[in-house]
Amino acid sequence: MIESTELNWNAIADETIRLLQGLIRLDTSNPPGNEMLAAQHIAGILRDNGIEPVLIETAPNRGNVIARLKGDGSAQPLLLYAHTDVVPVEPAHWTVDPFGGLLRDGYVYGRGALDMKGILAMQLAVFLTAARQMRAGNLSLHRDVILAATADEESDSNQGIGILVEQHPDLLRAEYALSEFGGYSLHLAGKCFYPIQTAEKGNVWMRLRASGRPGHASVPHDDNAVVHLARAVDRIARLRLPMHMTDTARAFVAGLADGLGGAQAVGLRALLSAGNQMGSALIDHALREPGMAAELRAITHNTVTPTGLRAGLKVNVIPTDAEATLDCRTLPGVSQGDLLRELEDALGDEAGRLSFEVDSAAPGLEFPTDTPLFRTISDALKRHDPAGMPIPFMLTGATDAKHVSRLGAICYGFSPMKFSPGERFSELVHGHDERVAVASLAWGTRALYDVVSAFCQSRP
Ligand SMILES: [Zn+2]
Repeated sequence: MIESTELNWNAIADETIRLLQGLIRLDTSNPPGNEMLAAQHIAGILRDNGIEPVLIETAPNRGNVIARLKGDGSAQPLLLYAHTDVVPVEPAHWTVDPFGGLLRDGYVYGRGALDMKGILAMQLAVFLTAARQMRAGNLSLHRDVILAATADEESDSNQGIGILVEQHPDLLRAEYALSEFGGYSLHLAGKCFYPIQTAEKGNVWMRLRASGRPGHASVPHDDNAVVHLARAVDRIARLRLPMHMTDTARAFVAGLADGLGGAQAVGLRALLSAGNQMGSALIDHALREPGMAAELRAITHNTVTPTGLRAGLKVNVIPTDAEATLDCRTLPGVSQGDLLRELEDALGDEAGRLSFEVDSAAPGLEFPTDTPLFRTISDALKRHDPAGMPIPFMLTGATDAKHVSRLGAICYGFSPMKFSPGERFSELVHGHDERVAVASLAWGTRALYDVVSAFCQSRP
């Protein structure tokens, strides 16, 4: 095996930065997307490097591009996938051009620098480096490496990987897949963790309806739908649904306890052994940082968040119905029915005059961590940052893993980046002046290359 130390990592870092700047300069804000700009741009780069990609336009201007490095077929492929669309910007709040790809003071600025053109640039640099190493006779693969840059993730992926999984499964089928989010440094109490995403929550989006007796507003009565709804929303906001520890949450808490030590470790271990009834109350005391306690609560509970209200036709009319929209997030293994039962139990008597209507739902995902790829990732992170501690974690949001996993892949969120202690990934993503440190990109590209090359060279 050729060690990655023999590669020119300065040149590869420069290439990663140029790739990212090129991607940022293409405005793929979704809506409307226009990801064909990015797909054609990437296809051109691949062709310049002797790789023939497949370009798929799922709708006008909605482009997707897929390429493959061939292994000897003795193991199933590894898929690297990324979305090329970005969320819109509010230019007035930016101090730089969001689509300028400016390199300043060690940072590349622009929409998508983190989510996720920066990650795509790293994947692309890794893919091109592997291709060159193969051509030079320095690398041979036992499994194919597939690169997919797809559209529409910031909406519902219907013009991206969602439709590709249905219509072109053979282009994407893989045993393992890597994408956002995870593998970036998280600094807590002077310690550094690398959460690797091995699970993500599901979602149930629904409407809660309260009904009552209509009438003239000049004669108030007790059966007012607006009042019923207001009470229910207030009650829901204060609900504490039961705690559930999944394997990922357990491993995350145990990893934090091992790494943090001291009083926080005692609190976290108490949480692990307390059981679901008692545990919930311990979360606020287990972690000192308020943001982390909220995160820990979200990955150990199904959650219900009111996000909209609609009631009333006219100021002097008591309406028959009033409606709230609820964003519910479910733990892996929890069905839509399970969630509704928990919610009705928690609402007690009030549930009787309320009805729930589900608009859309997707189940949560949880993948095993006792796999050769997880071990390869963990070993690589420890090699590249000996002080860092890799731990499994659950994303509270959703990614394209929901689609990719339908083809049977074990999906991890692994896009290695190194943040300084003051920087929080979650505060920069989708924010104003989104940016990524050049040093972080350089470090991450090298760590990702080591994982991909080590994993795909090794015999299964
Ligand atoms: Zn993203």
